[in-house]
Amino acid sequence: MAPRKLAAGNWKMNGTLASLAEIDQLLSDHLAPGCDVLICPPATLVHALAARTQGKIAVGGQDCHAKTSGAHTGDIAAAQLQDAGASHAILGHSERRTDHAETDEQVRGKAVAAHEAGLVAVICVGETEAQRDAGQTLDVISAQLAGSVPDCATAANTVIAYEPVWAIGTGRTPTNDQIAEVHALMRDRLSARFDDGADIALLYGGSVKPGNAAEIFAIPHVNGALVGGASLKAQDFGPIIAALA
Ligand code: PGA
Repeated sequence: MAPRKLAAGNWKMNGTLASLAEIDQLLSDHLAPGCDVLICPPATLVHALAARTQGKIAVGGQDCHAKTSGAHTGDIAAAQLQDAGASHAILGHSERRTDHAETDEQVRGKAVAAHEAGLVAVICVGETEAQRDAGQTLDVISAQLAGSVPDCATAANTVIAYEPVWAIGTGRTPTNDQIAEVHALMRDRLSARFDDGADIALLYGGSVKPGNAAEIFAIPHVNGALVGGASLKAQDFGPIIAALA
């Protein structure tokens, strides 16, 4: 079983109820068989989006807490996301690792919580520009995978997104060879550790646009994309889905 293709949109802290009009356009004009579509809106929109899309696309959160409930003001439990209609949660995005000082260990705890709530964990890894310049990329990715991906990960409950920090929102992307090198490493590491590691979907993320999507999707072991800015408008995200399908 080859990994399923996944076009995932990360809306970050963007969007209000009015933005769901973009989803209507996505549903009517841009869905394609052979490619799953996931949108991770702000938590305020998870329920409305799930109600609007009725399972035609998957809906995800952008984070969850490692605990199931309790005194954690401002946080969201995985089961609450699931209750609101989410099937996925992005975990360990570099903006969370930076803005909220999330560690690999914390990301792993969140992934376990996501799995226990029946959510697919979309676990993000990626090197900073300084780490790439210092030749540490493969070591950083290996360490993040080892530390952030829990032992309970399977191809059914986990997706890994490689997102070089310096490529996020910058319009810069790695070369095809650089993406290929990291994705091959991730595939090796996951296959060595998990029985079905060869089937865990691997996404590339960082300045994916309609103009570069097809080229990126042709790289071995790239099974889809995690898209930020270009997921906000159907006219941008639609062609990315088409390039993958
Ligand atoms: P970008 O963001 O597509 O806007 O670069 C990707 C991400 O952070 O997931």
